[in-house]
Amino acid sequence: MSQKDYADNRSSSRKEKNQQPAKKETLCPVYKKCGACQLLHMDYKKQLDWKRGRLTALLKPYGKLEGILGMEMPEHYRHKVHAVFGRDSKGKVISGVYKEGTHIIVPVENCLLENKKADAIIQTVRDLLKSFKIKTYDEDTGYGLLRHVLVRVGYSTGQIMVVLVLASPILPSKNNFVKALRKVHPEITTVVVNVNDKKTSIVLGDREQVIYGPGHIEDQLCGMTFKISPKSFYQVNPVQTEVLYQKAIAFAGLSGREVVLDAYCGTGTIGMLASPHAGSVIGVELNRDAVRDAIAGAKRNHLSNIRFYQADAGDFMVQMAALGEKVDVVLMDPPRTGSSEKFLTALVKLKPRKVVYISCNPETLVRDLKYLCGKGYRMETGVGVDMFPFTKHVETVVMLSHKKPDSVINVKVEFGEGEGKVPLDNIAKRAEAYKPKERGTYKMIKEYIEAKYGFKVHTAYIAEVKRELGLPMYDAPNAVEKLKQPRKHPTAEKVEAIKDALKHFEVI
Ligand code: SAH
Repeated sequence: MSQKDYADNRSSSRKEKNQQPAKKETLCPVYKKCGACQLLHMDYKKQLDWKRGRLTALLKPYGKLEGILGMEMPEHYRHKVHAVFGRDSKGKVISGVYKEGTHIIVPVENCLLENKKADAIIQTVRDLLKSFKIKTYDEDTGYGLLRHVLVRVGYSTGQIMVVLVLASPILPSKNNFVKALRKVHPEITTVVVNVNDKKTSIVLGDREQVIYGPGHIEDQLCGMTFKISPKSFYQVNPVQTEVLYQKAIAFAGLSGREVVLDAYCGTGTIGMLASPHAGSVIGVELNRDAVRDAIAGAKRNHLSNIRFYQADAGDFMVQMAALGEKVDVVLMDPPRTGSSEKFLTALVKLKPRKVVYISCNPETLVRDLKYLCGKGYRMETGVGVDMFPFTKHVETVVMLSHKKPDSVINVKVEFGEGEGKVPLDNIAKRAEAYKPKERGTYKMIKEYIEAKYGFKVHTAYIAEVKRELGLPMYDAPNAVEKLKQPRKHPTAEKVEAIKDALKHFEVI
């Protein structure tokens, strides 16, 4: 039975028993104050219908939606739980969520969306504060220590990470605190102190100290193991993440030979799942910790045809396009703001046969689809995946394929809101200047190496390697056929990178 069928059955059996949908206030006492569950007043089937209707209407100009995949048990799906700590007007310690659009704390005991174990851990932390004389942080006065607690629960491993976000680095009696916490919850496998001493609404600060365990957890999805650090992005709803990833890989329709780019790859999950079905996979991600986790994940899963790069996905794509790289399939999963002008312009230049676009924001998805569909792509199919039951949010996977090159139509799409809108066509013209005129120049070799290996090589080194290989060096600036004195030789790593570039440009 499909997830959708189950949702339908579940709802009709409710009707058969003549049950009324539960009252929203009964389901959640802070429903109104919190504001996160915008669809709590709807029965789950209705929620799915509402989301399907919205997506169908938005995507209509571009293609057809297959439907929406819902959950069998839509409660307590969030495996990453965040609680902000503070005091109420009577001075009592509270933890919960910020009231939407404010910094007023709404106390939460048990949340319908959150993993129950994570909620219980947060309660225990709250109970321990008094005996450890730990004060909660006050945003107005800047006084106090504990700001937030973040709990991540591994879906299939059961490993649990607790991150204590403090306003200053010292947690008094940290070892005893961990002991007391683990006495109640022995399932906790790691505890990390994160220091956030800035006046900011961003939860995590830059500094971290592991006070118990390895400082990360592992989880398994679709048969692979992933490493998750405190700051790495990892989908919050593991049950639906498996559904989403399986759809994305199926849409990619890989034959085992393709070069696949996993853009905005986070901890590399999608790329790693694609790797056994592809020739090679390249992952690109901005967050350094996530890239580290991705590299560790590739090793852990014994994948040898995948590489990860830490870069802005837009810059990376521009470089790939400039180097004339070949990409067959792009899997892209940008944040809520959608992709960038830079990225999409370069994507059109790279002209992958297929694009699988995963989106958590239908509005920016539609904006980006409008651009791609005006530049030679056609939406083949799409499906909604309900990653966030009870909320208005919905995830979508869309598959686009490239039409014949002569059918490109130019459209002008504007990105961003208010000031600073940039027409995409101008970006496209600027990016045109990057296009290499010939293959294998020193400049191109340098750019190729920097993009692929992340280090620079000197022209003289390239010339050295060419000399050793018996190749002519006439196009090297200031090159001489015979040296007056021996030149310092590049490291083995650089020699390999240069040879790789020479092969890439078919010089050798
Ligand atoms: N595909 C991953 C992550 C998706 S979330 C998964 O399924 O888990 C989006 C990711 O995009 C985040 O990891 C975020 O750090 C990354 N990101 C945001 N802006 C970016 C940019 N400009 N370039 C590259 N990555 C970016």
